[in-house]
Amino acid sequence: MTVKANKLALLGGPKAVSVDCGDIFAWPIVTREHEEAVLDVLRRGAMSGSDVSKQFEQEWAAYMGMKYALTFPNGTEALRSAMWACGVGAGDEVISPSMTYWASCTSALTLGAAVNFADIEPHSLCLDPADIEHRIGPRTRAIIVVHYAGYPADMDAIMAIARKHKVRVIEDVSHAHGGLYKGRMLGTFGDVSAMSMMSGKGFAVGEAGMMVTNERHLMERSIAYGFYERTGVASRFNAAESYITEPELLTYAGVPLGGYKHRMNQTCSAFGRVQLTQYPQRMQAIQDGMNRFWDLLEGVPGLRAHRPAKTSGSTMGGWYSPRGLYVAEELGGLSCEKFCEAVRAEGFDQTWPGANGPLHLHPVFQTADIFNMGKPTMISFGQRDVRQGPGTLPVSEKIGAIAFGIPWFKHDRPEIIKAYAGAYRKVAERANDLIA
Ligand SMILES: *Cc1c(COP(=O)(O)O)cnc(C)c1O
Repeated sequence: MTVKANKLALLGGPKAVSVDCGDIFAWPIVTREHEEAVLDVLRRGAMSGSDVSKQFEQEWAAYMGMKYALTFPNGTEALRSAMWACGVGAGDEVISPSMTYWASCTSALTLGAAVNFADIEPHSLCLDPADIEHRIGPRTRAIIVVHYAGYPADMDAIMAIARKHKVRVIEDVSHAHGGLYKGRMLGTFGDVSAMSMMSGKGFAVGEAGMMVTNERHLMERSIAYGFYERTGVASRFNAAESYITEPELLTYAGVPLGGYKHRMNQTCSAFGRVQLTQYPQRMQAIQDGMNRFWDLLEGVPGLRAHRPAKTSGSTMGGWYSPRGLYVAEELGGLSCEKFCEAVRAEGFDQTWPGANGPLHLHPVFQTADIFNMGKPTMISFGQRDVRQGPGTLPVSEKIGAIAFGIPWFKHDRPEIIKAYAGAYRKVAERANDLIA
C-alpha cells in the first residue's frame, strides 16, 4: 500500500497533488473596489490625465518612505528613464546581472551605453558583489541591482562598492515590492529604483511602472525626459505646475528630452491605488503560504529554499515567480530537468528548470546593430568592448541546473500547500527510481 502510494507518477504511480487548488494561484485579486475605481476614470474620461497618477505617486512614495515617485506605462520605461536620469549616455557602461529579465538593462543600448554583465550568487540568484568591482572602469555610470524572484540582493556590499567608486545604483524592484533587506524596504538603498507593476508581478496593476528616488535632480530629469506636460507648462490635460526648477531642464519644457512619452494610463493608476491599500495584507498571506511550503521541505535532500534566513530581518516581498535551489549531487546526479518533469507528472504542471536565461550570450548584446552604424551597438558609441563569450559567467550559465520553479501561493491554505510540497518531497526522496 505505502509502496504503491509512493510510486512516482512519472513511473505509473498516483499523483501527489490531487486536491482542488481553488483560487490559490489566481492573481491579481480584483475586487469591487478596483472595478469602481477604474470605472470612475472611464466615466470621467480621465484616462489621459495625471490627477489620479499623482495621487498614486504620493501614496507609493509614502509607502516606501521616499520623497519622490513617478508613474510610468511599464517597468521597462521606468528603468530606461532611471538610467538616463543617472547620466548614462553614449560610450558609457552599466553593470547588470546577466541572469535577469531583459528589461533590467537592455535600454542601456538605446542610450549608447554597453552592458557589462556580472555573475550572480548561487544562493541568492542576485548580483555577486565579488564580481562587480573589477568591472568598474572610467565610464561606468551605474550598477543595476535586481532583487531576483524577491530575494534581497546584498545591498551593504553593493552600496559600499558603488560609493567607493562614485557609481550610481539603480535598484530594479520588479520582483520584490515591499520586500525587506535587514529590516529596510528594498528600493530605498540605491540612488533610484524602478519597478514593473504589470499584471503578473507581486504588486500587480496592469501595464504599469514606478520610479522612486530621494533625489530631486533625478526626479526632475525623469520628468523632463518623458513627461512633456508635467514640466511646468500648461497642457490640455494639466494646469501649469512648476515641477521642474533646474534652469537647464526648464529650457526644454514642453517637449520631452528623450522623445519618449511616459504618461501612465489612469485606469491603471486608479487600480494601483486600490492595490496599495490591500497589498500589505496580500503580501502577508503570500509570505505565510510560501514560508509554510519551504518549512515543509526543510531537510529534504537536493532541495534548498530560495529565501533569506528568518533571523536576518530580510524578506521575499510578494515572492514573485518563486524558485527553489537544486543540488543534483544530493540526488545521485539526477538532472534538474528530469526532476521537474517528475514533479509535473505529480500534478503541478508549471515546474520548469532554471529562471531567466543569461543575457550576456544573447545576440542583442553581441552582434545586433540597432542603429545601422555598421557595427554592433555594444561597441558603436565608443564603448569599451565588454562583450563576453560562453563560460565567462559560470553561475548564470548553469541556472537551468541549479534552480527550478515552485508554486506561487497567494493564500496560506495548509492542506493545499502540503499536497504541493508533498510532490517535491516525493520526487526528491525517490530520485533513485529515476536514475536506475
Ligand atoms: C517585469 C520586469 C521588468 C519590466 O517591466 P514591464 O512592466 O514588463 O515593462 C523589468 N525588470 C524585471 C526584473 C522584470 O521582471
